[in-house]
Parts: sequence; C-alpha cells; structure tokens
Amino acid sequence: MITRREAAQRLDIPLEMAKRHSIPPRMTEAEFAELDANPPAWLQQSRANRGKTTRPVWVQLSCHVCGYTEAARPKKWWPDFTYLSCSEHSIDDLPAPAPGMDRREFDGIGSRFIGILDAPVVG
Ligand SMILES: [Zn+2]
Repeated sequence: MITRREAAQRLDIPLEMAKRHSIPPRMTEAEFAELDANPPAWLQQSRANRGKTTRPVWVQLSCHVCGYTEAARPKKWWPDFTYLSCSEHSIDDLPAPAPGMDRREFDGIGSRFIGILDAPVVG
C-alpha cells in the first residue's frame, strides 16, 4: 500500500491537489499504476502545466551528517544549499567552508533541517 503523500510525491503533485481530486488516503501499487498510466483529466492538465515550470514540486532533503532524508515542498526562498544538516547536529560536524567562502545558515528547512550556504565573500 502507498499513502496519499507517497502517491503525491510520485505523481509530483501537491498534497492538496491529491486530496482535492479524491486520491484515497491509501492505495495499492496496482491502483497507483492504473492512475499513473491512465491519468484523469485533472492529472493530465497538471502534467501539461508542470512541463512549463522548472521548479520541482517535491525535493529530497538529505542530512550531510547522518544521512536522514525526507521529501519536502521546496520554498521559493531556498537557495541552492551547499549542505543540509539536521538541526540537532553541531555545525562542526560539517566540513569547514573553503577559504574565501562566507557561510550562512538557514533555519526551518523541511521538518528538521538547517540549510548551509557557502558563497564567495563579496567585495
Ligand atoms: Zn542528521
């Protein structure tokens, strides 16, 4: 059985859309395959629209320290992080920034991550 959340991830659609279009809370692999192979009109429309944007609906976040991963909806303000780390790890568990790189931390990425962005010092 796969959950509605998993189905939404695999279809690359928002969870709200899956709910709105009556994707059941749980479905079998066979039911999912049927939906995927013979998408209803709303899913065809969603796929057609998705083709025009480059931003994925779901991204896989992985902790650089312990390897924990989760799928999350990316936020518009998220930069292209150098590292992700669970918030409970020490910053010292990550490699030090390269010389000449300025490190910034972003709290609240996904359910438990801190995003680390190393960028060249400007000026
Ligand atoms: Zn971790």
